[in-house]
Amino acid sequence: MKKWYAVIGDPIGHSLSPMMHNEWFQQLGIDATYLPIHVKEEDLEAAVASMKLLGISGFNVTIPHKEKIRPFLDALDETAEKMGAVNTVVRLEDGRLKGYNTDGLGFVRSLEEVIGDTKRHEKVLLIGAGGAARGIAFALESIGYTDVTICNRTVEKAQQICAELTIPAQAISLNTASEQLDEYAILIQTTPAGMKNSQVTIPFSLEKLKSSAIVADIVYNPLMTPLLQAAQDKGATIVSGLGMFIHQGALAFEYWTKQSPDPTAVKEQLLTHLGGN
Ligand code: NAP
Repeated sequence: MKKWYAVIGDPIGHSLSPMMHNEWFQQLGIDATYLPIHVKEEDLEAAVASMKLLGISGFNVTIPHKEKIRPFLDALDETAEKMGAVNTVVRLEDGRLKGYNTDGLGFVRSLEEVIGDTKRHEKVLLIGAGGAARGIAFALESIGYTDVTICNRTVEKAQQICAELTIPAQAISLNTASEQLDEYAILIQTTPAGMKNSQVTIPFSLEKLKSSAIVADIVYNPLMTPLLQAAQDKGATIVSGLGMFIHQGALAFEYWTKQSPDPTAVKEQLLTHLGGN
């Protein structure tokens, strides 16, 4: 019987996940389909129960439901528990729905696809302390990064994440980060700054950025954010957010199907859609 998967969010019309997962199902000859479903916050519990009743095999969860969905699931894996957020739900063999989070590891895979795995001892600056930053911080730690600083508009939120990490980590303000930028080898931007229609274009000035730095932005619409453009102008290596999007999806796909999709094969299609290269 044909299997079905979905992504739920509000709004959902813009999501590129259906394009990506349906392409992978087709490439791997899997008889399944993946649908975008618009779910409002007040309907979240009923929507999860309905999808379960109707035999869904798995689904992704996007803004604004990543945290609020937790009580409506039957189980959470350790990473999703630690992050307090779910982006992937798997239907287990006994029919229960289990929540996972592939955002953090998806980001680290996309970063190392570009820079390799030899820079794990270098100084990393994480900009932002929201859900995505939390997942990335734990994934960096789990993969072996040893020196992480988190800067955020609300420094207390950065302090909270640092306190939960087991590697030494420090929390600083955006101003301090901007002033000390020449100390960092890797910058990871996780705020909505630079996103299409966002009022903030760049978190802070890159005046002190080293030309040898690596600058990653998890925003992928537009692909070239003002931060990445400024970093490239200074000679830095840049990593766009599209890789994270593809790798978080590939990890979800692996949970559902036990098969590894080709992350590069859908890239061209997504790039065409986003109007970049
Ligand atoms: P979130 O939990 O709402 O966190 C937002 C973070 O941005 C917080 O640290 C917040 O600071 C900071 N921030 C928001 N507005 C700001 C401003 N005007 N100036 C300075 N800092 C500001 O959001 P999230 O879930 O982490 O997502 C963040 C971004 O990542 C979104 O743009 C999302 O689309 C993107 N994302 C991309 C992928 C991908 O696959 N590439 C995956 C997940 C998320 P405060 O703590 O001070 O409020």
